[in-house]
Amino acid sequence: MASRHSILFPSPSASQVFAKHLTQDEWLAYTRTLQKLHKVGRLGYWQMSLATGDVYWSEVVYEFLDVDPRYFAPSHEAFMTMVHPLDQDKVAQSRQEMLKIGFTDIKYRIIQPNGCIRWLHEIADNTSPDDPNILLGTLHDITAHKALEEKLRKQAITDDLTGVFNRRYFMKRLRQAFSHFRRSEKNVAVLLFDVDYFKTVNDTYGHAIGDQVLQQVCRLFKERFRETDIIGRLGGEEFAVLLFEVSSEDAVAIADGIRQALADHPFTTEAGGTFHISITCGVSSFAADDPTEDCILHRADKSLYLGKRQGRDQVVYR
Ligand code: GH3
Ligand code: MG
Ligand code: MG
Repeated sequence: MASRHSILFPSPSASQVFAKHLTQDEWLAYTRTLQKLHKVGRLGYWQMSLATGDVYWSEVVYEFLDVDPRYFAPSHEAFMTMVHPLDQDKVAQSRQEMLKIGFTDIKYRIIQPNGCIRWLHEIADNTSPDDPNILLGTLHDITAHKALEEKLRKQAITDDLTGVFNRRYFMKRLRQAFSHFRRSEKNVAVLLFDVDYFKTVNDTYGHAIGDQVLQQVCRLFKERFRETDIIGRLGGEEFAVLLFEVSSEDAVAIADGIRQALADHPFTTEAGGTFHISITCGVSSFAADDPTEDCILHRADKSLYLGKRQGRDQVVYR
């Protein structure tokens, strides 16, 4: 029966040390089979001797890191230089955890020499019954999985038609902004926009052109608002924008700039003609005595409908 150590550090010199119970040929065949299986399953693995600090990386680990085994000596320090700066603390912490409790399970990014970022999932264990001085770890490349996760996360918070945030995400950010406002008292404004006579746009030019109008409105929003502003589609042709650390006067001026830009924008019909639309906006800010985050929306909504009653194509702040 072979000792487990016989498969550790599959280099000729290590084999001489560990493969006491296998012939050289048996040991090599066993190692080749294991390495093939790891390659097929895209499982990288590493081993580290606590006694000597020696580190072994399997071929797949070199592939994950995109470094050449002929010129790159494996070590914990060398590995750490490739860990993404934002994940360095997390990885260092997990290493401490493993030394303490004998186990760790962590996902982090590494940066390959060519600048590509890969996500790795590492599960490490030093609870070997044979030699507690040998740490064992496995690595999986989960970059594609992470990309899909990110795509789904974005999809879940985005409005399909226009690409701005959906109502649910906007409301979440509004809640967060309200609790931040209560602590900091820094002004937060909401602009609530509703396209005027949009039903007529659909009825006159068709639903597809109506959709294009909504997309163009959002393109203009994205051009004019800052990256940090939160643009959301609350419903059909109604949009809200959350502006941080802005005075109410500035919020009104920003809203009016958008209103004017939209009024000036020529939209194209299917027949190649052009038409114009207008938009009405209600503006409001958080107040110190607001009991909930909804109050700002109610005030903006009241202003918006006052604007509609007063003839549309205007910004109202109350
Ligand atoms: P007001 O000036 O009072 O806002 O009038 P309005 O016509 O814009 O308002 P109303 O609420 O009567 O009509 C809104 C229309 O928006 C009706 C609905 O069919 C249309 N709509 C809602 N969502 C979409 C969409 O995703 N695409 C298109 N093309 N139309 C939509
Ligand atoms: Mg409307
Ligand atoms: Mg509406």
